[in-house]
Amino acid sequence: MYDIIVIGSGSAGYTAAIYACRAGRKTLLVAGSVSGGQLMLTSDVENFPGFPDAVLGPELMERLRKQAEKFGPDIVYDDASRVGFQTRPFEVTVGEKTHQGKAVIIATGASAKWLSIPSETKFRGKGVSSCATCDGYFFKDKEVVVVGGGDTAMEEATFLANITRKVTVIHRRDKLRASQILQDRALKNSKISFIWDSVVEEVLGDNKVTGIHIRNLTTGSETVLKTDGVFIAIGYEPNTSIFKGQLELDLKGYIVTKNETETGIPGVFAAGDVRDFKYRQAVTAAADGCKAAIDADRFLSEHYSL
Ligand code: NAP
Repeated sequence: MYDIIVIGSGSAGYTAAIYACRAGRKTLLVAGSVSGGQLMLTSDVENFPGFPDAVLGPELMERLRKQAEKFGPDIVYDDASRVGFQTRPFEVTVGEKTHQGKAVIIATGASAKWLSIPSETKFRGKGVSSCATCDGYFFKDKEVVVVGGGDTAMEEATFLANITRKVTVIHRRDKLRASQILQDRALKNSKISFIWDSVVEEVLGDNKVTGIHIRNLTTGSETVLKTDGVFIAIGYEPNTSIFKGQLELDLKGYIVTKNETETGIPGVFAAGDVRDFKYRQAVTAAADGCKAAIDADRFLSEHYSL
């Protein structure tokens, strides 16, 4: 029986585990089969406090993992496949085993969104990607497209400009959503060009990507752009499928919380991108993990004698 089960190992999950263990709580961290969360797919992180010279996303997560391990949670590197929040203690099933916990912190984060066109699925791994840091190298000296107008799209475009010959950003509006600094960096980069007010209708190719079919939303005109790769950077959706029917989710699938991290079930808390569609930063997720662990610790003090 655990005091606290933390599900997820992004910056929210690791931070929650650190705080839970340091509060003296017997903690299980369900880190997932692919641990580390979205920062594993990021290059330079320049805005995490304490790293004046930036830090690579995977390195930051490795440091957080080591820091969490130091405080002695049990860790299982597999995915939670089922949760049972109707009974107490709560149940979290991982593989064949069902673990019991008096409190649960959900920090399962969010995953990249896709355009949902059939050709995108067909060419995934054959020229279509959602991760420039993972796959950019395969497009060395080639031409690529980045879809999206937010921070991720600008970061991906700027990263890819260092590797590839040319980057074209396709954005569905005529204004970027990205923060000013990332916009400026991309707009000033001579290797990055922009196609505005446009969407990708189809990814073209045979065994690999050779181009895309674009539609201009203002004029309705349709064109074909030759490209070797397509990077989709259009945002994220929360990883909440196993909580459907157990917790209240909003229309986009984010866990609904009150008083910061409390879900509708006392003793079940949510932290980071799984509940936060507004800030979605590594530092805010870490802060959320801290809050959830403090909230869970207080819940245990109030409801269970030590
Ligand atoms: P985002 O801010 O939601 O931006 C998504 C972009 O994709 C928007 O420009 C959106 O267009 C476009 N888009 C969405 N759905 C689309 C579709 N179906 N077809 C075509 N275009 C579509 O997502 P994000 O850039 O991934 O950023 C997510 C969060 O992480 C943000 O809070 C961001 O600040 C944060 N982040 C921060 C950093 C950093 O600070 N270094 C880096 C990465 C991400 P519209 O603009 O028209 O809506």
